[in-house]
Amino acid sequence: VVLAEVVAVDIGGTSIKASLVGPRGLPSAPVRLPTPVGGGPAAIVDAVARVVGTLRTPGTGAVGCAVPGVVEPGTGVVRRAANLGIVDDLPLGPVLADRLGLPVTVEHDVRAACRAESELGAARSVGDAVVVVAGTGLAAGLLVGGRVVTGTRGAAGEFGHVPVVPGGEPCACGQRGCAEAYASAGGLRRRYRDRSGPDRSGPAPSAPGPTAAELVSRLDDDPLARALWAEACVALGRALVATTALLDPAVIVLAGGLSLAGPLLADPVRAALADGLAWREPPPVVLSAFGDRAGVVGAGLVARDPLRTAERRVVSRCG
Ligand SMILES: [Zn+2]
Repeated sequence: VVLAEVVAVDIGGTSIKASLVGPRGLPSAPVRLPTPVGGGPAAIVDAVARVVGTLRTPGTGAVGCAVPGVVEPGTGVVRRAANLGIVDDLPLGPVLADRLGLPVTVEHDVRAACRAESELGAARSVGDAVVVVAGTGLAAGLLVGGRVVTGTRGAAGEFGHVPVVPGGEPCACGQRGCAEAYASAGGLRRRYRDRSGPDRSGPAPSAPGPTAAELVSRLDDDPLARALWAEACVALGRALVATTALLDPAVIVLAGGLSLAGPLLADPVRAALADGLAWREPPPVVLSAFGDRAGVVGAGLVARDPLRTAERRVVSRCG
């Protein structure tokens, strides 16, 4: 049985990335468009339906969506996705399936990325791994005993809200000192903006602050960028100390937009992790095989789940 092509969509807090994925699971270069966060859930559904429409071919058999939020397993209902402005249940899978006439599977973006690394990427052939996705926000996919952990309420892997600075900066989640407040593109942008106004006692400057890529490009000649990046790497390393103590992973994979910095991220994070572990060797810290495309690759894998189920039904009927 030949597996069809699928369309994979990673709906991020900043951009939507979509690719046509062939039978081997590797996506074409993604189409990127800004996420219409201000337009509410309907605008996001429209944008996804439109981009799938431009990519699909007559051979397209299914669609997979990766979403940064709480996804009800098996139903395609997004319970909550703060970075997308979704605060009430949104039946994203059923609504898109209706519009597109294709099966649509929805998965938490970080669990999708974890699956991508586990099946095709940097965590292949290991049963225990941590896949950190540092983008607009910060989370981690936890592979334990060969399975991606979901938790009781689908909220496992909220790595970004591990407190790493006692009494530290406020986080959007309501806690203080969370890793995400320091080691995410959103956190870096906010911290840079708060510290760089012409008069820091005055009102906050209106400029949105640099993107992660802009900040990294300034590391050589901007002391503030350098200081905030170093703090981000230490925060990430501290959160990984806690994770390593709890899970003893074979490998830690760094993915998401921040991982595009390469060794500028991996080297200081490795050092911070080693610094925090007195009693054991740190697990290896490697860069994602897919960078900021791990979510798209994972969405392509979950898209195939209903096709595989249908295939098994055909096989068992024939057998
Ligand atoms: Zn938090």
